[in-house]
Amino acid sequence: MRIFETHTHLDFPHFDKDREQLIKKCFKSGIEYMINIGVDEKTCNASIKLAEKFDNIFASVGFHPHDATDYNAEFIHEKALHSKVIAIGEIGLDYYRNLSPKDIQKKVFEQQIQIAMELDLPIIVHDRDAHEDCYGILDGNNAVNVVFHCFSGDEIFAQKIINKGWFISFTGTITYKNSNMENIIRLVPEDKFFIETDSPYLSPHPCRGKRNSPLNLQYVIEKISETRGVTPNKIAELSYGNACEFFGLPK
Ligand SMILES: [Zn+2]
Repeated sequence: MRIFETHTHLDFPHFDKDREQLIKKCFKSGIEYMINIGVDEKTCNASIKLAEKFDNIFASVGFHPHDATDYNAEFIHEKALHSKVIAIGEIGLDYYRNLSPKDIQKKVFEQQIQIAMELDLPIIVHDRDAHEDCYGILDGNNAVNVVFHCFSGDEIFAQKIINKGWFISFTGTITYKNSNMENIIRLVPEDKFFIETDSPYLSPHPCRGKRNSPLNLQYVIEKISETRGVTPNKIAELSYGNACEFFGLPK
């Protein structure tokens, strides 16, 4: 089984005690690629550093909506040119916590979409309670390669994303009893989804309350496999192939 971890934050302090051992364990467990996601200047730099150290870790750079007020366009422009940076993200809108004013979130999201388009990089979207605005800004800027990370919309919104040719990414939240994601897991075409942990956050059932890690991708794979009625191996392979296509990495 080949596994692609498309969204993790291994640079976060939660991993300070065992980062290198954990990364080695991940690569031994069947994980072939991992993307470490930046959310601000510090974590973008740390993501690139990790990617420089490990051949099969790649980085994405972006300012999270929470950090939109600190946005530095020059920084993103410069870092996005690094050879191990393969996406812009996570960027988007978060109207649940609204840690930055909405108008700034929107402006910063749009500017980063334009950088991604200019450099022909895929876009990793963080969308919390902001489905229509996220969609509108992406569509308005003719964004092509887009994934909604940790998808949280309903079936109608999922269909809108699929109709655009964009991707849906599933985290461990799909394993929660009240997640109601089964219909979306069934609806997404087999070439339009992939998987992630968003570790150290969002530990899947039965690991809730503990630190999450890429090793827990097996629970995400199992849930999709049960719901779609195909083998875990097939789900891992589909997700792996789709992510390779999306991020432009060799299969
Ligand atoms: Zn994240």
